[in-house]
This record gives sequence, structure tokens and C-alpha cells, in this order.
Amino acid sequence: MKLTHIEHIGIAVSNLEESIKFYEDVLGFQCYAIEEVKDQKVKTAFFKVGQTKIELLESTDSEGPIGKFIEKRGEGVHHIAFAVKGIEDALSKMEEKGVRLIDKAPRAGAEGLDIAFLHPKSTGGVLIEFCENKNE
Ligand code: ZN
Repeated sequence: MKLTHIEHIGIAVSNLEESIKFYEDVLGFQCYAIEEVKDQKVKTAFFKVGQTKIELLESTDSEGPIGKFIEKRGEGVHHIAFAVKGIEDALSKMEEKGVRLIDKAPRAGAEGLDIAFLHPKSTGGVLIEFCENKNE
């Protein structure tokens, strides 16, 4: 198992359009994709910062994970995603090491990636996502 780099940082926002404006007009990045991920009840916007991406997440349903997160903690950093080679293997390694998994098997994320989350109770409070681009 090898984590190769930070694939993206997920940021929960309450208004995607306004947040895109901040990242474009103030920080000078260019949004290159907007995508709805129905499974996670979110609309996402992506920016490239070198090899790493910023993923803005707006909830499409107040009962969804991002809706609940914002209600509890407000807008802000939601998760860190590490790119991994061999995501299934990585998940079983985590389980062997006693890490609690949110996803025991990878599921479909934005941009056609296979993704899985580790439980923040096992990672010092950080929601960690593993993701693998199997088309790479
Ligand atoms: Zn993510």
C-alpha cells in the first residue's frame, strides 16, 4: 500500500456559487469542473493547485453528510484525500491496524475515482479519504 500524494482537500461550503467566486476572483484559481455526486448528496466544484485539487462541497440535501457537517460545525475544511495505489488492499491494511472504516469497500466518487472514507474517531479527528484513479 502506498499513499502517493494529497489528491484533494474537501471544503464544505453553504453556497457553491459564492465560494467559487472567492476561489476565482480573490485567490485566482480557475474552476474546471462542477459535478453532482448523488450518492453523497453534494454538488462539487474543482480547482487545481499543482498536483492537488480543492474540492468545494455544497449539500443538495440538509440530511446529507455535508448538510449535517455544516449544521454542526459550520463551513470549513471537511476532509483530506490521499491518492492511493490499490485501494482495496489499503482498506484491508487499515482494518488490520484497527482503523475504523466508514466504507469497507470503495464506492464511486467525483471525477470517476474510487473512494473510501476512514472514520475520524480512528484518525485523530480528521476525516481521511482514500482515492484511486483506476484509469491512470
Ligand atoms: Zn473528497
